[in-house]
This record gives sequence, structure tokens and C-alpha cells, in this order.
Amino acid sequence: MPELPEVEVVRAGLEPAVVGSSITSVSVFDERALTRHAAGAADFVDRLEGRSFTAASRRGKFLWLPLEGSPSALIAHLGMSGQMLLRAPTAGAERHERVRIGIEHPVHGELAIVFADQRTFGSLAVDALIEEGGSRIPTQVVHIARDPLDEKFDDAAFRAALARRGSAIKRVILDQGVVSGIGNIYADESLWAARIHPETPASRLSTRAVHRLLAEVRVVLAKALAEGGTSFDAQYVNVNGQAGYFAHSLNAYGRQGKPCPRCGTAIVRETFMNRGSHFCPTCQRRR
Ligand SMILES: [Zn+2]
Repeated sequence: MPELPEVEVVRAGLEPAVVGSSITSVSVFDERALTRHAAGAADFVDRLEGRSFTAASRRGKFLWLPLEGSPSALIAHLGMSGQMLLRAPTAGAERHERVRIGIEHPVHGELAIVFADQRTFGSLAVDALIEEGGSRIPTQVVHIARDPLDEKFDDAAFRAALARRGSAIKRVILDQGVVSGIGNIYADESLWAARIHPETPASRLSTRAVHRLLAEVRVVLAKALAEGGTSFDAQYVNVNGQAGYFAHSLNAYGRQGKPCPRCGTAIVRETFMNRGSHFCPTCQRRR
């Protein structure tokens, strides 16, 4: 599943090709790719054709391209398997291609943005932009908190939010309304690095522990970003969320039964929120 680093890699890859380009054509091959656009395919096409993209933005796992002369943006949520691919205009259909947007860029010429999605949990939409804390964000993104790599992320507000919550710290950092961008893998890796048991009540963490956790979240996300960033070409993005290029540097996630890289104790996997939590029972003691 694409998480923050994968979505950021897609955003950074699209940016140089889409900013300043105009939309020449929009083809919707499967309306399931527009579940977030309630007005349907004809309206979606109508709101895009002839417009230009002014930026490529992201919050959490939402990606959006604001439109010139309209307080709206093309937004994309990649779901489980969505991909935003940049292709030559003559490129043949991709596997699971759902939507194709033809663009013309003043420098790069004609290109196609292809939205492909095998499992169809992802969706595109044209959404209104609203003012929030000095930024303009799509209405569908308002409930998503900033991610820890965002320069406007508020560490003190995050600490206060944790102090109000008695539920497990892992559950709290997976809550996109508290902090975005931390999926199951990055949660397990950050908690391992910060030596915090995933079931520790959030309100019981000391200020020092919260700062340690935030620092580790940033390290883990930045590292995943750097590794993902080496595998894409700015012109032709092809990011596969399931490729798992980060996998070789995992310390806890998916390593049950294998030695903890810090102390040698076998990593444990416990079921958590219908998924798994991976942690070291020695380094991450339950208090
Ligand atoms: Zn350990």
C-alpha cells in the first residue's frame, strides 16, 4: 500500500512535468476511479479540460494539483494500489488503466498522466480548495492532519493531543486526524527505534518519549523517502507501492522470529487493529 514516502515520490516526480502544463484531453475508462467525484465522469472531464496545473501538493496520502483560474484542484488518493504514471502521449494502455489525462507542457511537450489502479480503492476527483492555516487545501483533505515532515507541523500540539488520549500510542499515530503519513510499517519502525511498546497509552508517554518518537518518525520517513527517491525518473514516474524498496532496511516490521538488530531478542508479532504489530519485547517493554 502506498504510504507517505511513496506518495511524496509520486508528487515530486509529477511536479516538473505538470506545473505549468495545460490539460488537452481527459478520458475516463472506469468510473470506479471517480468514487470521490460525486458529480460523475462528464462533470469531472468538464472541470479539467482546458485548465492548467499550477502546483503539485500533498498532505498525508492525498496528492493534489491546483487548477489555474479556479479555486479547485485535481486530487488523487492512491488507495491500496493506485499509481499516477507519467507517459509519452502515444504510450499504449497500462494494465488497470482507469483514467488518462493528456497534458501539454511548455518545455516537455505532450505527456499523459495515467491513473492505474488494480484494486480500485483509489480515486481521483476535482475538489474545491479552501483556506486553512495559511494554506489552500481541498475540502476532502481538511480532516487530515499535517505530517511530521511538514514544516508547519506543530510538535507542541501533537504532544498535547497525545496527552488527551488514553488509547494505545500505535493506534493514535495511525489516526490521520492526529498526525498523517504514518502507516503500519512506519509506525512499527518508529516505535522500535524510540523503544516504545505499541500498546503504551499515549497519555502515559513522557515529554521526552514523545520527542524521541517524533524524531524517529522523521528519520524513518526521511530514510524511506531517500530510498524511494533514488528509483524514479523525474520525467517518467513509475512508482509501485508494493515494490517494497524500503524492505531491506526494516528493523522490526515483518521480522517476527528474527533477532532484534539492537539486542538480539526475537522480534514478536501481535495482532493489532486487524493487522500486525512487530516489536522487540526487551527494548520495548510494556509499562
Ligand atoms: Zn531489542
